Formats: sequence, C-alpha cells, structure tokens
Amino acid sequence: MTTTLLQPGQIEAAAGGIPELRLPPADVFLTQARRLEQLAEGHAMADYLRFAARLARAQQDILDAGPAGELPSAERLAQCLEYGMPPLAPAGLIRPSGWHGTARQLARSVQPFLTAAGQAALQPMVEGADAWLNEQATRLLENDTQHLHAAVAPIVGAALQVHWTHLARRLDPAQVARPEHPNLCPVCGSHPVSSVVRIGGAENGLRYLHCALCSSEWHVVRAKCSNCDNTRDIAYYHVEGGDRVVEAEACPECKTYLKVAHQEKDPLADPVADDLASLTLDLLMDETGHAKSGINWYLIQGQL
Ligand SMILES: [Zn+2]
Ligand SMILES: [Zn+2]
Repeated sequence: MTTTLLQPGQIEAAAGGIPELRLPPADVFLTQARRLEQLAEGHAMADYLRFAARLARAQQDILDAGPAGELPSAERLAQCLEYGMPPLAPAGLIRPSGWHGTARQLARSVQPFLTAAGQAALQPMVEGADAWLNEQATRLLENDTQHLHAAVAPIVGAALQVHWTHLARRLDPAQVARPEHPNLCPVCGSHPVSSVVRIGGAENGLRYLHCALCSSEWHVVRAKCSNCDNTRDIAYYHVEGGDRVVEAEACPECKTYLKVAHQEKDPLADPVADDLASLTLDLLMDETGHAKSGINWYLIQGQL
C-alpha cells in the first residue's frame, strides 16, 4: 500500500448551480446489482458479491412494484425544511407497515441460492414475528450491531432501504434543507455507505456521499473529512497494484476514513457495490488505525 498526500487545491469552488442533493434514481438497486455481478468475476469474494447482487435485484423488483409508505404531512415537511431537519429521519417517521412483508420476500428471494447453512441462517427472517423484525430494525438503525441477529441484518437493512428509497424518490430536492453535518444524509439523517465522484452533466467531477438507508446522495467537496470537516493533510490510500478506482480518504484529525469510488477511472463505479468489493482496503485501513465512517449493511453479517 502507498500513500498520496493531496493538497486541498482540489476542492471544488463553491459555485452556484451545483446539484447539492441527488434523490435516488428509479433503477438504483439494479445499477448496484449489475456492478456487483461485474465485480464478482474472478473476485475472491465472488459468492458473497453474487449474493448481494441477487438481494439488490430483489430490492429493485419490490421498488418497481411501489412499496408501502406515507410521506410526512406538508406541515411537517415545511417544519423540517425551516429548522434544517432531515424529513425522513427514522425516529420521526412511522415505519411503513409493509416492511415486514418486504423483508420476508427478500429472504425468500435469495434463500434458494445459498448453501444449506445459509438457508437455515435466514429462516428466522422468514418465520420471525413482526415484533421480532421490528426489534431487529431498531437495532440496525441505532447501529447496535452487538445485539443484532447478524445473519439476517443485511436482509433487514435491504428491506428498510427499499421503503426509504421509495419515500425519498417522492420528495423534491427543494423540500430538503442542506445538511447541518456533512456526514449525515439530509433526507433521513443516516450515515453514508461511501462516496462517489460522478461523471457527466452538472455533477461531473463532483463527490457525493451515498446514504445507507434512503439511497439519496449529497454533495461534499473532495479532500475534506466528512466526519469532522477537517481539510488539512487529508491522505488517500489504495491497495498497491490495484486500479485505484476505489480509494480511502483518511483524516489525521479524527482518524476515520471514507471510501471514494471514482467514475472518471471506471464509469460504472458504484458507491455501494465498489465499497463491498474493496474489503481488502478496509482491512488495510484497519491496520493504519483509521476507523471506517461509512456503513454497508450488505456486509454486516460476514459470510453466509
Ligand atoms: Zn438518507
Ligand atoms: Zn476527520
């Protein structure tokens, strides 16, 4: 592994006209699935990447069908905008009633492709009572991984993503205030998975953080720690000999890192899929003493 120090000269000018918020596109999970399938070819984690791809395809099917969920009232949305609060924060929103069914459907979609042990591990998800599923969702949303049923966590996360992504798609960017803290999603207040430098159109060359829950993306200038706002001595790490499509942007102040997927190096680079496929970089960053500030729910339970 080698380190490159970048100067904050790469920071984009805070000019007007930058799309600050990208609400999720209609095919967000399909895009992830295709990228996961591509990255799985010849990959040491091929089976796991294909599992995540199947899960993402199942998520897309449910998103296409229009899952349940009610947006907050117009009054509440206006209030959130005025006070700079994320309108879809899980704590302030009634959990969509259909999410249990979504979770069971997702589990059943991926089960046939798993080993016997993997199928058995997901059975509590298929048979679990709504109350148990609610408890798992609360633990996941509160990042209480210690008390989470690890084997079902990616499915619980995937189900919540479908409903929140559907709700986020029904918002207008003008209804959402700029984030108070650059590490939290302005739409739902969740942490990012990682970030992506996009290409094309008004977003060309801009870095966006991708939400772990609602799939929205928000603009944060490059060479700036999204966790603590520091812009000094930001360092970029990559796996030696790799293609540098994914780098870890590391902060010497708060000792955290967030990955950056570069579409200018690979136009199909995806903040969720490429994060999952670059686990080696996470292991190397762990050795450097930096903690990951992004969360990828697909990865929580390790191996099926
Ligand atoms: Zn969000
Ligand atoms: Zn920092």
